[in-house]
Amino acid sequence: MTWKALAIVQFILTLLLATALAAQYVSVSSVSPVVREPAAPGESTLAYTPPPPPKIALESLMDLSELKKAMTPKVERISEDIFLASGFALGSVQMVITDEGLVIIDTTESEEAAREIFEKFREITDQPVRYVIYTHGHLDHVCGTPVFMEEGTEVVATRDLVRFMERDFKELHDFHVRSRKNQSGSLAPEYSRKLPMKSMFRGVSGFDNLVWPTITFDREYSFVLGGKTFELFHTSGETPDHLMVWIPEERALFCGDLYYASFPNLSTPMLEPRPVKGWAESLDRMIALEPVHLIPGHTPAVAGVNEVRRVLTHYRTAIRSVYEQTVECINQGETVEQAVRSVRVPEDLAGLPYLRELYGRVDWSVRGIYRGLTGWYDGRGTGLAPLPPGHHAREMVALAGGADKILARAIELQKNGEHQLVIELCDVVIEANPGDELSRVIKAASLENMAFTGGNLNMFGFYRSAAALERQAAGVKP
Ligand SMILES: [Zn+2]
Repeated sequence: MTWKALAIVQFILTLLLATALAAQYVSVSSVSPVVREPAAPGESTLAYTPPPPPKIALESLMDLSELKKAMTPKVERISEDIFLASGFALGSVQMVITDEGLVIIDTTESEEAAREIFEKFREITDQPVRYVIYTHGHLDHVCGTPVFMEEGTEVVATRDLVRFMERDFKELHDFHVRSRKNQSGSLAPEYSRKLPMKSMFRGVSGFDNLVWPTITFDREYSFVLGGKTFELFHTSGETPDHLMVWIPEERALFCGDLYYASFPNLSTPMLEPRPVKGWAESLDRMIALEPVHLIPGHTPAVAGVNEVRRVLTHYRTAIRSVYEQTVECINQGETVEQAVRSVRVPEDLAGLPYLRELYGRVDWSVRGIYRGLTGWYDGRGTGLAPLPPGHHAREMVALAGGADKILARAIELQKNGEHQLVIELCDVVIEANPGDELSRVIKAASLENMAFTGGNLNMFGFYRSAAALERQAAGVKP
């Protein structure tokens, strides 16, 4: 496996394909201007034509043949008895064959995808499924389970997974549905520009069919099946309930989402802070096992004791460094905004293909770590009992001499590519007057540009959803 191939993150494919196709439909989309009549005395009429979405040089991001390869559903043989099914859905499925039956690790987000995978597995073996193991309680790892369930199949997970899934899938159910749609760019889809593309995300198979664990444990659990030992360790990281599976006879480590070929998503913007310190400690444990095979829940497996050690060590060092730098910033009295601007991945690691910020981002990680370790008040007085945003915004609009002045400036800035400033100015107008359509249309155009140029899959989704929500509020389809 070359470094270049390792750099391919399955979940970035959606973004890359979208950008490739975006270039094609730019020429065919015709956009009509939005006219804003004066909303207050002294304002003038504004006419605005949204710019087309930007073109991106796909070649600069990745090799098309590699892209195609990673999106092709396949079952790979990792060793004599270990198989990895990838490309069917966002999450991969691993199968271990023993003389006394099968162990399945993770089951994807979709029963349909799981069925396709199981059919492929059944061409290899007709052994019964004895165990399903969940590395953690994210949907792309647990939803396909009904397909693999047979008479007496045990489902193993940490006890924390039950608490985690009870909270996310029951207590916070509606929020999670909404925030996941937001992250994947699928909020208000009728107000999103259509992407003629195939997504790897197969759609979640519903919370009602979830198969809950039959065996849970706190720290460690092991069993022997057909001469192979399965050692399960509770190793927090991407989630607090995470585990890894170690088969000493094979020197094979199944690590779920504790490693994938991208800078890790140490903090996902809409969810609770993640156990970053625990993530680095889990990587210490992974390195100490000296695996020959590292099989993650996304992106290709890594092979060879030296290669695995190298990748995991770099990963661990980057995570620990970002964590420790953020702690230092907090102790030095830096604000979160200052910390975001000063924390960096060590220079010798920053350029590594498996630490590119394709899925996780360093600045988001700093925000998550900062927030997880401190309270919500920054000590500057203003934030203790702030006015409602509309109050402040109406004052700013009046000081500017009218919303039209702010929006005219936003249009100018948009032409110069200063999109963050554009959306911040538009927000002033929106907060002062939520019914102002043009501000939302201008903001949507900048958000769309940011989606395509951010180079990060989560950013693509969040900006795309935000753009759709603004268009929906304005009642304007793209
Ligand atoms: Zn996952």
